[in-house]
Amino acid sequence: MQHDVELLILGGGCAGLSLAMRLAQLGHRAPATLILEQRPRYQNDRTWCFWGGEATPFAQTAQHQWPAVKVRNARQTLCIDCARTPYRMLAAERFYAVAQTALRDVPQLRLLMDTPVLSEPQFHGGRWHLQTLAGQVTAAMVVDTRPVRMPAPGGALLWQSFYGYEIDCSQAVFDPECADLMDFLPANPERVAFIYVLPISKTRALVEFTVFGVAPLAADDLAAELNAAIAQRVNGADFTVLRTESGMLPMGLDHQNSGLAGLELAYVQVGVSAGAARPATGYAFQRIQRWAAHCAQAIAGGRLPIGHTPDPALLRQMDRIFLNLIRRQPELAPQLFMTLFARADSQKVIRFLSDCGSLVDYASIVLALPAKPFLQQLFSAASSGQGMPAGS
Ligand SMILES: Cc1cc2nc3c(=O)[nH]c(=O)nc-3n(C[C@H](O)[C@H](O)[C@H](O)COP(=O)(O)OP(=O)(O)OC[C@H]3O[C@@H](n4cnc5c(N)ncnc54)[C@H](O)[C@@H]3O)c2cc1C
Repeated sequence: MQHDVELLILGGGCAGLSLAMRLAQLGHRAPATLILEQRPRYQNDRTWCFWGGEATPFAQTAQHQWPAVKVRNARQTLCIDCARTPYRMLAAERFYAVAQTALRDVPQLRLLMDTPVLSEPQFHGGRWHLQTLAGQVTAAMVVDTRPVRMPAPGGALLWQSFYGYEIDCSQAVFDPECADLMDFLPANPERVAFIYVLPISKTRALVEFTVFGVAPLAADDLAAELNAAIAQRVNGADFTVLRTESGMLPMGLDHQNSGLAGLELAYVQVGVSAGAARPATGYAFQRIQRWAAHCAQAIAGGRLPIGHTPDPALLRQMDRIFLNLIRRQPELAPQLFMTLFARADSQKVIRFLSDCGSLVDYASIVLALPAKPFLQQLFSAASSGQGMPAGS
């Protein structure tokens, strides 16, 4: 079967569906769009967490929200009030369901499941051509959200690897009013490791073990420490594992997104392996929502689809300096995070982490952190002639 459309979206995950939902809001003005997704069906394969007030997209759809989060290590626990911008959790199954419902009402937008892309797109005759399991497709514009490359050492300054179980426990062991954002394991010269706990009720929580390190780690590499963390949390009570989730997210991509073609050929690569994730945190969900709104606006205005907007230079530099420091001296990271949350105003830290910071917020972050390790890091980078990596 042959499909000829104006816009082709490769991959119906977070970025692909977020753009499609924005286009659906255009109603009959939406361009003829095909979204190709290789999965036969959606599953509850992840949870997206983000900070945000009521104006945040998906605020109403969130499964749970926390007015406070904790950051802790063996010696100290900091409780951070975030009631003004609660930490929200959106189950992927809800997101996929909302997206599918939105697309159903707009005949110009078609989502084809179980339809992997079989050949790389070729540009000739003024259009893109590619082969899929559902036949030949041609399109004027392509937004490609497929992962550009597999996670591998060297692809990013650091990798954030995590593995988690959503568990249902036979006893009330969790506090659904407060999430554990980072519960650090003891400082380690090889990696930064912490437990992340998202309690949905007194008996149910998603518990994840997370590592920041130079190489990505598979779920199997993290399983033993995840099991140990859960055993400690449930304090001997029985529990059932309802589902699992895992990921390997780049923190500071070390390649420029060359792209198959260029904007002049109406082809953009987006998504987590093409710059969607915030380098210092790996958070991508809200950034993808902002990109989707801008990209849909461009398309609605008769312009070409756009990729992710680079972060402001100052933010990029701050993230690079921070990532380079914890890449070289991961043992410093737990105390750096503790110090940041202890000294800086929590609203400023949250705005900084969610890309909504002002210059004043950036200044507060810098002033809250101990200067010495950062100066040493800058000095050693300068004296080894490294400077900042390309793209910083
Ligand atoms: C388990 C997990 C939890 C996360 N939690 C958070 C969080 O709490 N907060 C946050 O901000 N970020 C989070 N992230 C990071 C980020 O938000 C997600 O990775 C997000 O899904 C990235 O969106 P994407 O569109 O780039 O990739 P995906 O959502 O993975 O979408 C890519 C899509 O392309 C499809 N595809 C791939 N190859 C082909 C092909 N050849 N043909 C057709 N389709 C193809 C895939 O099946 C997939 O559906 C998390 C990531 C993971 C993995």
